[in-house]
Amino acid sequence: MFFLNLHTHHPEMRSNVLAVRNFSPKQFLVNRSVGPDSDDAPALVSMGIHPWNADEMVHAELATMASLLQDKQVAAVGEIGLDRCCDVDFERQQMVFLAQLKMAACVGLPVIVHCVKAWDELLAMVRQVDNCPSLIVHGFRGKPELANQLMKWGFFLSFGTKFNEDTLRQIPLSSLFLETDDDADADIVSLYRRVAEIKDVPLETLQDAMMRNAHLLGFCR
Ligand SMILES: [Zn+2]
Repeated sequence: MFFLNLHTHHPEMRSNVLAVRNFSPKQFLVNRSVGPDSDDAPALVSMGIHPWNADEMVHAELATMASLLQDKQVAAVGEIGLDRCCDVDFERQQMVFLAQLKMAACVGLPVIVHCVKAWDELLAMVRQVDNCPSLIVHGFRGKPELANQLMKWGFFLSFGTKFNEDTLRQIPLSSLFLETDDDADADIVSLYRRVAEIKDVPLETLQDAMMRNAHLLGFCR
């Protein structure tokens, strides 16, 4: 059975890991001609414009994004979102996030979300979208209270190597994903082992639950 890595910026060579590799539309244009990372490793792609990159030139990239979304390799839209702690104009971040949310809704793909100190604004945007797709907040490090609030809104939470252990203990497997993000040294299999121990479940149960969540959200179309 696979170890699903919900979000990574690096190639994956192991055949027992199913990685969702993140690209900007520009990066995906270059990389899709290259093909999977190795002959063995299955590969899924998430594609999106990060709030940090929502600059003045973003309209061209939004158009590129729209034209690439039908590619069968693309399993999710992301990472997209809102970040109060970066220098990028917040209004433009909101415009770019909403545009991509609507694209995801149109093609029915799940969304990987980057959100820093903008939860209310995030929810306000999500409510503007008809048939809003499933949202997964990636790199979640928040406390149990915030996790509960987000799960009440129907969000999934993806944990990287740094997380709040109390939160991890209380979150049901049916709302959970695991990821290594941009950490090239992080090992997804070790993270699964660590999480299985903390949650006191067999490794296979964790693997099975993550794959089931991915299927449920339509990752493997
Ligand atoms: Zn990332």
